[in-house]
Amino acid sequence: MKLTFPRIGDSHIYGRLLFQEIGIDIVIPAPNSTEGLERGSAKAPEDICLPFKIMIDNLLSAWEQGADTVVMPATMGPCRLGEYGELLAVVLRKQGCDYRWILLDALSAVGSKELLHRLGQVVEGSPCRKRQILSALSETYSIIKNFEKLEAEVRMLSPYDCRRGASKSILRNCRRGLEKASDISNALEIIRESRRELEELDRDKERDPLRFLVTGEIYTQIDAFGNHHVEDILMDLGVSFEKSISIGWWIRNTILNPFGGMLSEAKKNPLMPHRIGGYAKETVNEALRWKKEGFDGIIQMFPVGCMPEIVAKSVFDGLAKDEGLPVLTIVFDEMGGEAGYLTRIEAFVDMLYRKREMNDVLSGNRCGVCKH
Ligand code: SF4
Repeated sequence: MKLTFPRIGDSHIYGRLLFQEIGIDIVIPAPNSTEGLERGSAKAPEDICLPFKIMIDNLLSAWEQGADTVVMPATMGPCRLGEYGELLAVVLRKQGCDYRWILLDALSAVGSKELLHRLGQVVEGSPCRKRQILSALSETYSIIKNFEKLEAEVRMLSPYDCRRGASKSILRNCRRGLEKASDISNALEIIRESRRELEELDRDKERDPLRFLVTGEIYTQIDAFGNHHVEDILMDLGVSFEKSISIGWWIRNTILNPFGGMLSEAKKNPLMPHRIGGYAKETVNEALRWKKEGFDGIIQMFPVGCMPEIVAKSVFDGLAKDEGLPVLTIVFDEMGGEAGYLTRIEAFVDMLYRKREMNDVLSGNRCGVCKH
């Protein structure tokens, strides 16, 4: 058995370390690219959403390298992601890729017995004992948590760097180190070392950068190619930002705590009390944090054709009109050019700095002439 999985964000880093630790052969698809997206688009149903097209290329690439089994995270609808597994199987079979499929559906959808059975199928080729497998799983989860914590700190701290781009470069080097890490303990040490470097950086605490919340569809939240490297753009523009949705978040909410979070959220969110598919509800939940936590604005991202996020956008439109929520919605399509996205984000940032300046002048904290 040679396992593979769609390449989403840093999943290739975590997957390699985990499966190597438990002695399972895996194939990592080639990095996501414009050429890959073109190949995936040519084989996908015309109006399917962007992540599906990228995943087709991922799995074609893995098949060419000898993979025979796919492990696929799924949610069982109601949005299209729930059908991705079945539809991908049909499309890939037509291309001659006769994979065996293991769908990791949500615990709430298939029940614990079925999910455990499927997880058992994933590790059936491992020579390790159950205890070793569980320990490798827990250590990999610890890598995910620690690396995502480092990412979150870099997103918040990078605008304060005395040497511009220093935090961003620590994060980039850490990710490169993890890609080459010899094993799980080496990976954990690389993250610890990066954290030490981050703590030692000189920072200018006098600065007062804009603070954004970045939210939206899960694939574009997690995958840098899928969101045209929007995080790098924001760091280069000197904006501080938070982003909740990540691979670790998905594991916590889908596998570790599938009921608790969702049920308690339903009561808290009057704007979208029911789940409508994808992660639209979480997107709207984030908007509720905007005023309470004093963010300057929200950036919502989703791929063209994403149905749940279009509904979330209409909630944002209402909030923008009624409560003055500053929101920038970016819909990513298959065009490779990044200049258009960059210009819109720059304009949004400029506009919010001006708004802050105006508020300061009106409240008497700043002179309207010299702006000091
Ligand atoms: S959330 Fe949106 S982009 Fe993702 S699978 Fe569903 S419809 Fe497609």
